[in-house]
Amino acid sequence: MKREFLSIIVPAYNEEPTIEIFLNEAEKYTSRMPVDVEYLFVNDGSSDNTLAVLKKLSEENKKVRYLSFSRNFGKEAAIYAGMKYSKGDYVVIMDADLQDPPSLLPEMYRLITEEGFDCVGSRRVDRKGEPPIRSFFARLFYRMINRMSKTDVVDGARDFQMMRRKVVDAILSMPEKNRFSKGIFGWVGFKKKWLEYENVERVAGETKWSFWKLLVYALDGILAFTTVPLVFSSLLGILFCLIALIMILFIIVRTIAFGDPTSGWPSLACIIIFVSGVQLFCIGILGQYLAKTYIETKNRPIFLIGETNIEEDMTKEAKENEQ
Ligand code: UDP
Ligand code: MG
Repeated sequence: MKREFLSIIVPAYNEEPTIEIFLNEAEKYTSRMPVDVEYLFVNDGSSDNTLAVLKKLSEENKKVRYLSFSRNFGKEAAIYAGMKYSKGDYVVIMDADLQDPPSLLPEMYRLITEEGFDCVGSRRVDRKGEPPIRSFFARLFYRMINRMSKTDVVDGARDFQMMRRKVVDAILSMPEKNRFSKGIFGWVGFKKKWLEYENVERVAGETKWSFWKLLVYALDGILAFTTVPLVFSSLLGILFCLIALIMILFIIVRTIAFGDPTSGWPSLACIIIFVSGVQLFCIGILGQYLAKTYIETKNRPIFLIGETNIEEDMTKEAKENEQ
């Protein structure tokens, strides 16, 4: 029987200090698994020597393949590219910093091959080692997006998950440019099992996520997976019309009963400023959706490859698919 094949996709952005540690650690577990393995590193436009390290490793270890982007396209693009170029019957996505413990790989593989799951995800049960303010906003984000969107976005879910080919193909069939993986993985569905583990801190190097970047990421996620903010702004419009109607009635009745002393311009000024603020806010929401639509219609590629050691014909094939 043909041996099955597992692709391990590793997005790497300035991971010079961690890649080799990652590879050694992962090999410890995969070498004992009954499956052939390829490591597909995606160098996401690193400015350090990540690419040189990858080249060196690929010469030493035939299982190491790499794709190198022409610039930094972001982790979501790296995951997409990795999936596109992976040839495994199973695919797993892992961070290069060992925050996704390779010790879970054998169990994930077992759950898929023996217990019939299509996808095994992982979630961390705590947020140890993270600033409390960041945890607070993260929790708030998950509560909000799950209220607003039908897609299940699980709190603490990592991108670390193993899936069957059919799940990978389903994900690749979503051509959107604004790729919010946590939502995409939930959107495709399939039979999923969650593994839980305690948060691990990265082995070396430092995180690429500033608070600001996380905020933008969260907003992108909301825009990509729900249009509820648009409904919200419509409701706000209706509410303000109602309030205005009540005020008009009140003023008419008051004028009839007490005459019309000319006063109250400061309150008028406040109302005008407030209402125009609300209007700008709602136009802003509309604008955000329009901007996303604009970017999608430009239909630019999700990533561009600078160099790779993956065979030429495969590269060509993927290029054709992109069109
Ligand atoms: N990463 C990437 N492109 C980026 C930022 C990050 O490919 O623009 C990779 C990074 O090399 C790592 C993974 O995504 O393998 C997770 O990044 P990081 O550890 O900085 O995030 P955190 O674990 O702190 O959420
Ligand atoms: Mg990390």
